[in-house]
Amino acid sequence: MSWPSEKLDSVRHHRAGIELCRATDDLPSWIAGQELTEADLPYIHALLEKSFADWIEQSEGFPWLSGWPIVLLHPDYTAVAATGAATDAALPDIWRLNAAGPTAAGMALDSCRPALVRADEHRHPALVGLDTLAVPIFSRSSGFVCAAIVCLAPAGAAGAGELKLLQAAALHFKSCMYRRFEHLFIEDQLYAANMASREDKRRDRLLEIMRRLNDHIDVENVLAEVFSSLEQLYPTCRTNLFLSQDYSSTNERVQPLAFHQQDMDLCWRAFMDGERREDGEGAHRRIAFPLAGKQGVYGVLRLDLSAEPFDDLDIRFVTTLTSGAGTAFEKARMHEQANVLIGELRLINELTQRLNSSLRLSDTIQFATTELMSIFNADFCFILQLDSQLNRFSVISSNVPELSHEVFAIDYGFCGVMLATREPIILSDYHSATPVRSELLEATRSRSLIASPLLLNGEVIGAIMVTHRQPNHFSYENYKLLQVLSAHIGLAVSNSSLHAEVRRMVITDNLTGLYARHYLNERIQRKQEKDASGSLIVVDIDHFKKINDTYGHQVGDAILIQVSSIIRSAIRESDIAARWGGEELAIYLPQLSLEQTLKVAERIRSRVEEETAPKVTVSCGVSEWSSADDRISVESLFYRADMALYEAKHQGRNCVTVG
Ligand code: GH3
Ligand code: MG
Ligand code: MG
Repeated sequence: MSWPSEKLDSVRHHRAGIELCRATDDLPSWIAGQELTEADLPYIHALLEKSFADWIEQSEGFPWLSGWPIVLLHPDYTAVAATGAATDAALPDIWRLNAAGPTAAGMALDSCRPALVRADEHRHPALVGLDTLAVPIFSRSSGFVCAAIVCLAPAGAAGAGELKLLQAAALHFKSCMYRRFEHLFIEDQLYAANMASREDKRRDRLLEIMRRLNDHIDVENVLAEVFSSLEQLYPTCRTNLFLSQDYSSTNERVQPLAFHQQDMDLCWRAFMDGERREDGEGAHRRIAFPLAGKQGVYGVLRLDLSAEPFDDLDIRFVTTLTSGAGTAFEKARMHEQANVLIGELRLINELTQRLNSSLRLSDTIQFATTELMSIFNADFCFILQLDSQLNRFSVISSNVPELSHEVFAIDYGFCGVMLATREPIILSDYHSATPVRSELLEATRSRSLIASPLLLNGEVIGAIMVTHRQPNHFSYENYKLLQVLSAHIGLAVSNSSLHAEVRRMVITDNLTGLYARHYLNERIQRKQEKDASGSLIVVDIDHFKKINDTYGHQVGDAILIQVSSIIRSAIRESDIAARWGGEELAIYLPQLSLEQTLKVAERIRSRVEEETAPKVTVSCGVSEWSSADDRISVESLFYRADMALYEAKHQGRNCVTVG
């Protein structure tokens, strides 16, 4: 039996009453006060039908009932039930009061009185040869007709006595009907009470879940809370969460909301509309609840229901749960993002401080390489510098020693792209069709890449490439962060380069390209602190004044340059050649024996004589020191070399002497 909602509401209102009655053991009288109303009529067909069955069952032994067909009519003339023999006659039209003349049923239902209509008064062909008796059934207190019992008797068999008997039987029917009514009423009461208590429990549970959801400030915990709550409540349902955002979860039930994925139409609809959507039936029923916060929809929670019932109350419950989860998810996401931003700011701050703490280019790029690898959990990192004079990119730092000095044409690979676009690059998989070739990626078997140009005043001065062997390793956030970091690294690299250039200028003699005197002094001093020995050659061009006078200063300068380059090519990398002043040059040779030093000096002397044009000669003074000496100093080393030089000049020039 289904009740109109007003009826259920009234039942709910009486719930408190029921509990009270139970407590006082007064239930029957309270129930007896419940009554059918005319508004219930459209809903009582099933009640009448069941009551009729009860009545027939209990009326066994009534002599005429078993023989004469009986029909139970609803006030709308529907024959809701009949004894077997009356089935043929149980058509509603037979009983209506119409042009065919009065019927007993019509009199009972519309005139509300018992009636007996004789066979010869009937017009309807179905009633030919039958007397009809009908008795109205009145409601208990309000007294409206809620049914009629009609009995079909053989013509002439029924009389006033039979009508009285039917009235008595009708009373019995009425008591059967009210017993059913009370039974159903109690059933409904219990159902409503049950529903209400379930709802109460759900509400408590929901409050508890919401409280816990809001306690979590990390996304993983929020998601775990949602799954565990649903699992406890609906153990046979399968729950999946599809997230639209770039978020990878450790929870296997969280998957990306992929547009092309088969079977995802339902979720997409729910996601796009921000509304609950469902499809399938029974064990195949699926419901998609959008996971939404205040700022947008983040994904869809899909419940694949089992055969277990899932009613409106459950839907309401999961909707509320998902909406709470959406807000909690949003809050946790924002919290995480804020943390990431704070972390990034801290990182940028630290990195710039460290980058700027050293002005040595090699320190700066080495530090940047190590940091980038750890920040992005990368496999490889390369910093390249653009040499605009040689038109090439050269690797100046990398964690792969074999690739640390690679050079590439300016239009080659990803650096070439960045030089042209000045834009950073993110590549999820090098294996999937990319028109750009990269030796660095191929040599390291890398598949993911984030790269950024190093810019100075808008000009590309180099590039950073960070790679990983796994595809899809870097996130969009990584890519954005690298862009920010590379601005700082670019600045640090250019500062270091400028500093290196300034320093180079300071320690280099302009004309000859040899070191300046003060630098030579510094170096010798440092060497004397560490080494055990070393030697010095002072080279002076003979009669240089004359060269100047004869050929002019410019030629004099050219001669100085020629001699300097002979010196450079005659010494080891570790030797330090400097312009000592005017046309005097000096070479310090760390840890070289006197014998060897004399050979070097002699080589220089002879090569100058042979290779210069106009031809000049040089005189060389050599001195040496060792840790065994009493007094070691740069001055004494020079003094002795100078003395030797003086001696060489004295001996006629173009020779080497030892001081
Ligand atoms: P010697 O050493 O053989 O005794 O004779 P010298 O003529 O080389 O000696 P002196 O020290 O008298 O003269 C050195 C000359 O070198 C004086 C100066 O004009 C010239 N000189 C010094 N520096 C430069 C320079 O940078 N360029 C040119 N062109 N000449 C220079
Ligand atoms: Mg001189
Ligand atoms: Mg000279």
